[in-house]
Amino acid sequence: MSPTNGTFTLINADRLWGTLMEMACIGAGKAGGSNRQALTDADRDGRDLFVRWAREAGCSIAIDEVGNIFARMDGRDPSLPPILSGSHLDTQATGGRFDGVFGVLAALEAVRVIAEQGIEHDHPIEVVCWTNEEGCRFAPAMLGSGVVSGVYDTEFAYAVVDKDGASFGSELERIGYRGEFPAARRAIAAAIEAHIEQGPILEAEGKTIGVVTGIQGAYWLDIVLTGQSCHAGPTPMNMRRDPWRAASAIIAGALGIADQYAPSARVTIGDMKAEPGSRNTVPERLTFPVDIRHPDASTLEEMVAKLRALVERASVSARLEHEIKQIWHMPATRFDEQLVDLIEREAGELGYSYQRIVSGAGHDSLHTAQFAPTAMIFVPCEDGLSHNEAEAARYEDIAAGANVLLRTIIRAAQNSQQQDS
Ligand SMILES: [Zn+2]
Repeated sequence: MSPTNGTFTLINADRLWGTLMEMACIGAGKAGGSNRQALTDADRDGRDLFVRWAREAGCSIAIDEVGNIFARMDGRDPSLPPILSGSHLDTQATGGRFDGVFGVLAALEAVRVIAEQGIEHDHPIEVVCWTNEEGCRFAPAMLGSGVVSGVYDTEFAYAVVDKDGASFGSELERIGYRGEFPAARRAIAAAIEAHIEQGPILEAEGKTIGVVTGIQGAYWLDIVLTGQSCHAGPTPMNMRRDPWRAASAIIAGALGIADQYAPSARVTIGDMKAEPGSRNTVPERLTFPVDIRHPDASTLEEMVAKLRALVERASVSARLEHEIKQIWHMPATRFDEQLVDLIEREAGELGYSYQRIVSGAGHDSLHTAQFAPTAMIFVPCEDGLSHNEAEAARYEDIAAGANVLLRTIIRAAQNSQQQDS
């Protein structure tokens, strides 16, 4: 049975922890984590286990045409739009036990408690397991929720192939999770996703709960600078068209832009390619990616505009040609204020330490936020480590995050008109 602390119904922390550890055994990794990449046999086995548990908890199961699973428990009024809560069960090739899985199984635990305690609720509650959040086998990431939100269409998703040429559509069919009903927007009363932070902030601040206010925006730009190759010995410095002249100014300037918009801005230059790539030749071409992020959409645009102007100036002054290719853009997302306030209130009432935080990584909530009131709950993870088999979270923090989720779901699932009276 689920304990209470006198005032509140709480989740059964041992049961939640047990389901997390049992799920981790499916596609168990070599170093204590999991390898349950999307639409593999291990992903199917993980889904099968989730579906069995959800049925045992009294849920009905619906699967949409891109394999998103919705485990539904009706409330007093089945005609009301549902409260949606969950995350993803797929992992990186060397994934941890908590990324995504925590959000799905914490929502399942909430539904188990609501059912066994007979807690009355008006709205239906649906536990969601999104398909292919990680994107490591099938790019892009967050594909299942992306189709539902309308960012991608179903045919696009089916045609995506992995590195061996297997398509998303055929693999979905093969594991038996190509469902019937359309992957499309519908009325959702609230979407709430619990997740490990995947960063170091909560641990460093000594806080148990992160009340997530949004997801920072990001641009991936590739910068290509083209000059002229020449011999490193005979060519005087002032007669060269050396891409490094501009690159060094651009790199220093790009990091300077991050400093200027500190502490929220992030600028990363993760690679650099020189062509032809010979130690005694001035390169003809330099290509490097810039990953640039900020939680506020207009500030992010300002940063990108400054970077573009910098590339232009530096290239002209070094007599180079330049090109800036946009590879990817994740819009900055602000979560629903009422839902964020509700999560904050519940964390406080339960007596947990908490702080507001912006997500540094993308999540399926990015997509649900486009058509439904959305918010997220973070718990700390050890050393901020994720996408690593060593990913770890503390039992108490997992329980705390799931308790905040349970309380938030219960509150959100009451008919708002009754709540107001
Ligand atoms: Zn995740």
